[in-house]
Order: sequence, then structure tokens, then C-alpha cells
Amino acid sequence: MLRHKLSTPDLSEVELRQALMRLGGGWLTGDAALAAIVLWSSGQFDTNAIAAVLTVREDAVCRTLAMARDGARADFLADVAEIGGSIPDAVVHHNPMATFASRGCPVGCWFCIVPKLEGKTFTLIPDFPVRPVLCDNNLSALPAEFQDHIIGRYRAAGVPLMDANSGFEPRTFDDEVFARWSTINVGPWRFAYDDQAERPFVERVMHMLRDVPSRKKRVYVLVGNEPMAACIERVREVIAWGGEPHVQPYMKLNALERKPHVRFDWSEQSLRDLARWSNRYLYKYTDFEGYQRSAKTSRPGERSADLFDQVPA
Ligand code: SF4
Repeated sequence: MLRHKLSTPDLSEVELRQALMRLGGGWLTGDAALAAIVLWSSGQFDTNAIAAVLTVREDAVCRTLAMARDGARADFLADVAEIGGSIPDAVVHHNPMATFASRGCPVGCWFCIVPKLEGKTFTLIPDFPVRPVLCDNNLSALPAEFQDHIIGRYRAAGVPLMDANSGFEPRTFDDEVFARWSTINVGPWRFAYDDQAERPFVERVMHMLRDVPSRKKRVYVLVGNEPMAACIERVREVIAWGGEPHVQPYMKLNALERKPHVRFDWSEQSLRDLARWSNRYLYKYTDFEGYQRSAKTSRPGERSADLFDQVPA
């Protein structure tokens, strides 16, 4: 039997339904939006699982939920559905190679959806199914003994860790963590370089990985959250330190459209240009200023598709 509860009342059902119908682009609409809200409200499904069940993108689920959380009435959908039970390991329906050994993240970065959706404390899943793609949000911040537990499970199962796809946090990635995960990680080392304050930590990590090939040092670089010069400097530093930057323009967590949030001296176009220049490895052939100048002569709309070029996250 289906049963649900929503926890953040404000809008009437009619208002919420009308709002959902207006949503397009990166949001779910109509029945899909209602289904996502009901599943999420059950407390039994994560956004990945909901996306898998509804065969939609996970970011669309997140934005729909954020909107609903901002304005849903407590008894909304009381006449629509009741939800119960659980679907453990739902991520396998989204990607049969993927698994989670933990959820949540205690760091609480203001631009990140994880603490808001999964919590500011870790939820550990000791009996997680061992699969080659490990999707945990912040492996290096997990308790050391639980990191050892994860690694032990992989070794016991004889399963290679092909991709720790949300990766490690520079502040907590030290020699001990590197040595620990080196025993099973055959994929890239993934980090984030989110703002200037992280420079010493990222630089230290890149130095630790100096003997690792560039293609195996993937650094997510958030841009648009600081002025252009500061963001471009971070991208260039990743390249100079021997890594491969993957630019991710900042979006507001409650964005109604799949567009970056333009701040400081950025424009939407300059954010797109930097993402394309970086994520398509164009920095190997031209500097960003040269790319920007030539980009102005490109066909209108040519670059829009890859603003959010995806890598596993
Ligand atoms: S960006 Fe990373 S470290 Fe920050 S809250 Fe999100 S998962 Fe945690």
C-alpha cells in the first residue's frame, strides 16, 4: 500500500500542481513530478533511485523536490497515494555497475545538494553490494575504519574499483587515505576545487599524485561562484599541476531552468565558453583568451549543449 508524508507545507495542492505544470527544461512536470514527490516523501528512495524508476535525469528530480520542499502542503497528495516499504539498493536500476556504501556528507558546502537531500551526517551501509562504480559523496571524510571496511569488501569480493565517481575531498585526502585506496582503485582520482580557499589542499593533493598520469587526475572545478579571474586561475592551476579540469558552472539549487547562475563579472556565454574549453580539452590547443575570441565567430547556439558536459559525479 502506498503512503506518503510531505513535511513542508505552504502551497495549496492546486497551486503546486499549477506550478509543476509550468515547469519545463530541467524539471519534471505533471504526473512525473507528482510521482517524484511521493517517492521522495516516503523516505525510502534517494534521488538516484527516483530518477531510475521514472527514467528521468537525477538533476531534474532534485530540482522538482527542491521546489516542492519550498512549497508543498503537508497533506498534499493525501488523496493520491499511500507509500510504504522500501527498495534497497535502488541505484542498481539506474546503473547496474554502481553502488553506494554511504550517503550524506558532513561538510555542508553551500552550493551542494547532497547535505540537503541526504543529510549532514553520514549514513553508513556496511552490507552494500560490491560493484565497480562507487558513488559515495565523500570517501576520504568517512571514518577510517569504514573506509577499511569498504576496501576489505572489494578485496574479498575480487571486484575492481573502476571508478570512485564522486571522489575524495582535498582537505581530508592525506597520505594515509591515498595509500589505503591505492590498493583497489584502478580508476581516476577525482577531486573538487571549488574555491580559492581550497588552493593549498588541492595543490598538496596534486603533489601527492605527481606520479599519476594526467588522465587519471580529474578535478571538478566549480566556476561562477567567484569572479572570472579567480575561477579561471583555478582551472589553469589544475592544468599546471598536471591534472585534467572538469568545469562545472554554478547553478542555484532551486533553479527553475537548467542554466548557470550568473554572478560577478561572468555572463552565461563566458561560463559556457570556459566549460567547453576545459571539458573538451581545448586548452591543449589554445589558451582561453584565444578561444573566447574565436568563439565569437562560431555559429549561434553551437556551444550550448555541452555547458554541463557530464562526467560521473
Ligand atoms: S561538495 Fe562534496 S564535500 Fe561539499 S557538501 Fe557536497 S559532497 Fe560534501
